[in-house]
Amino acid sequence: MATWSLAYDGFDPDLQRLREALCTLSNGYFATRGAVPEARSDGVHYPGTYVAGLYNRLQTTIAGRTVENEDLVNVPNWLPLSFRIAGGEWFDPANADLLSHRQELDIRRGVLTRHVRWQDADGRRTRLSQRRLVYMRDMHLAALETTFEAENWAGELEVRSGLDGGVVNAGVQRYSALNNRHLVIIRAGASGAEAVELEVETSQSSVRIAQAARTRVLRDGARVAAPRALINADGYVGHALTIDLAEGRPVTVEKIVTLYTSRDRAISESLVDARLAVMRAESFQVLFARHARVWNRLWNRFDIRLDSAHEQAEPALHLHIFHLLQTVSPNTIDLDVGVPARGWHGEAYRGHIFWDELFIFPFLNFQRPVLSRALLMYRHRRLGAARWAARAAGYEGAMYPWQSGSNGREETQTLHLNPRSGRWLPDHSHLQRHVNIAVAYNIWQHYQVTGNMEFLRFYGAEMLIEISRFWASIASYNVGLDRYEIYGVMGPDEYHDAYPDRDIPGIDNNAYTNVMAAWVLLRALETLELMPDNYREEVFEELGLSAEEVASWRDIAAKMYVPFHDGIIGQFDGYERLKEFDWAAYREKYGNIQRLDRLLEAEGDSANRYQVSKQADVLMLLYLLSADELRGVLSGLGYELSQDQLRRTITYYLERTSQGSTLSRVVHAWVLSRFDSSDAWRLLLEALDSDIADVQGGTTAEGIHLGAMAGTVDIVQRCLGGLEVRRDVLWFNPALPPEVPRLRFSVHYRGHRLQIDITDERIHVIGRPGPTSPITLGFRGMTCQLQPGETAEFLMKPPP
Ligand code: BGC
Repeated sequence: MATWSLAYDGFDPDLQRLREALCTLSNGYFATRGAVPEARSDGVHYPGTYVAGLYNRLQTTIAGRTVENEDLVNVPNWLPLSFRIAGGEWFDPANADLLSHRQELDIRRGVLTRHVRWQDADGRRTRLSQRRLVYMRDMHLAALETTFEAENWAGELEVRSGLDGGVVNAGVQRYSALNNRHLVIIRAGASGAEAVELEVETSQSSVRIAQAARTRVLRDGARVAAPRALINADGYVGHALTIDLAEGRPVTVEKIVTLYTSRDRAISESLVDARLAVMRAESFQVLFARHARVWNRLWNRFDIRLDSAHEQAEPALHLHIFHLLQTVSPNTIDLDVGVPARGWHGEAYRGHIFWDELFIFPFLNFQRPVLSRALLMYRHRRLGAARWAARAAGYEGAMYPWQSGSNGREETQTLHLNPRSGRWLPDHSHLQRHVNIAVAYNIWQHYQVTGNMEFLRFYGAEMLIEISRFWASIASYNVGLDRYEIYGVMGPDEYHDAYPDRDIPGIDNNAYTNVMAAWVLLRALETLELMPDNYREEVFEELGLSAEEVASWRDIAAKMYVPFHDGIIGQFDGYERLKEFDWAAYREKYGNIQRLDRLLEAEGDSANRYQVSKQADVLMLLYLLSADELRGVLSGLGYELSQDQLRRTITYYLERTSQGSTLSRVVHAWVLSRFDSSDAWRLLLEALDSDIADVQGGTTAEGIHLGAMAGTVDIVQRCLGGLEVRRDVLWFNPALPPEVPRLRFSVHYRGHRLQIDITDERIHVIGRPGPTSPITLGFRGMTCQLQPGETAEFLMKPPP
């Protein structure tokens, strides 16, 4: 990687799918993997295109049961552009005699380029340059420009440019036994002289998806005529063009594509508008310039500059911000979508929305809170489904699903395949009720950073209160202990979905869940207090709240049970009684043991029997809360936690975690940053590598890990940069490791844009002028006011 680019020299069939995922281009509305345009899905290539939030459900009978899965749909491939020297073989990089092949993602401008030189059996050498973009400015457009140059020959080149509706969802090997044909072709044909069009419909959700593709041939920038014939078969529609190539005179094929769905706004009908838009579309050159300008504006806000001896750290941060902005872009604001765990970059986890939001929203809050607000609205629109789910499970309030897709139904699969054993196993991960903590936490953080009372009053408070009701109703009062307990859930650590000696799934008193449930109740109480009287009265009335109910939350928030053993916070009741695990032996036997659950199951054993964790669980508490805040919540519950206990808790879990989720390193890096900065920095570097180096060995190809990507950026901003909002004050408490002498970024805080520049000597804050009220900044217990346009400086070391 260079500062602003990710480049791959050479063509490696084994790495192609990984590169496709990392070179995905998207504008937040639709995403296209970085597959080569001449490829179709096969063992090497997987050219997927996905529309944000476009799902379809299919049933399959598997292991004697009928299961239904909702998938992010792989929509028709708009890339196809294949070519051959007339009469020769169609070009295929896996078989061609390549003289060079370079693919480069231009992160600054959001463009994917490719340069290829090859030679055929007759010694004819040809050069190809390609540029593509998924237009950030108008979300319905994409463009592909291909320039051919015959280096030492002249003659005819055949080019096929089309749209492929014959695609299925085949991006994840584990799902291959499941039905995967989501699309029904509605229409395919020519669209005027220069374009073709295709309309399909999803088989269950009945969403129409229309594409139109206009192909032109240019020489020296001017359009030239090329004979063309229509091809229309098996869902593929395209033009076959014959181009005369003169030696050393480049010819360009320009393909402009439009994509609409029947869910879009401001349209008549998806195909009508796809057709219209392709006819009106500008040239590649014009689109390219405008697209680059939009990206430039985005980078003016989102860029982070991190001076470090580790040259790859800053470029990796850029790549992570890039993919975050491609998944959640300004185009997202008008869509009804959540933020998917794996981006819109592949089919892993079926494009579902998990608790990973927790790792993504805090960064957005400080950059463009309008984006996190739009994503929170995805949850608000599904509050009805969450209320229904709570009632159906015997609880009150609202219970958000562990995996969410189209309408807020629980989308967690009921059976999952262990690829190691080949067995289909019951999946209990829907018991991760802690997803409701994530939704509540994000609402609270959004309010803290924006101070937006209107959002809180009309949307946020309602969700917070309904989630609080759920926690209050799932908590059982234990008379003997005079404490509240939560039974039968799963914590973030997915290795433990049951006790080894119990038939029913779930574990009891997951510390993370219990402590944070108490925290959520406290925030709901605080929300009611901080609202103006008339708002509070309205909310009480609308939601049928009573003083008794609110008082019961106070009681639960004061008496929630938290397991401890030897002064250490217990992951759940009885964790410490499970067997210790022989880490060394398993590392020796398997090498990579991140997915211990699968290894043990394949051996006929179970992770449930051991003190092992897939990912940070107890330590999530220190990711979400500062040590002081955690102590505060615990002491409100009647538990004390000394600094020594805190340290021992951290060490205990670090030693027992396999980092089986990419989220885990993010959490551990954060937690360690205040205890052991060099270990924290090492973990952060590893987390920055998660996708680029595909540390899980194959998962990135199925989609990036957006939580880890956003989490690393957030660590730099909020943890190394030390930003924290408490009671209307923006506090600075940087923790730059020795490896990072200087950090610069800008944030949005309560209407102010602040440029922040941190070294180990000082923090420099410059406010942009504007018509906003002053804000309060804090540093080491002291606060000061900052007017718009003013500058503040805090000295890290007192002057001599
Ligand atoms: C992790 C979860 C995460 C999910 C989606 C799983 O492997 O254990 O915590 O929400 O992936 O990213």
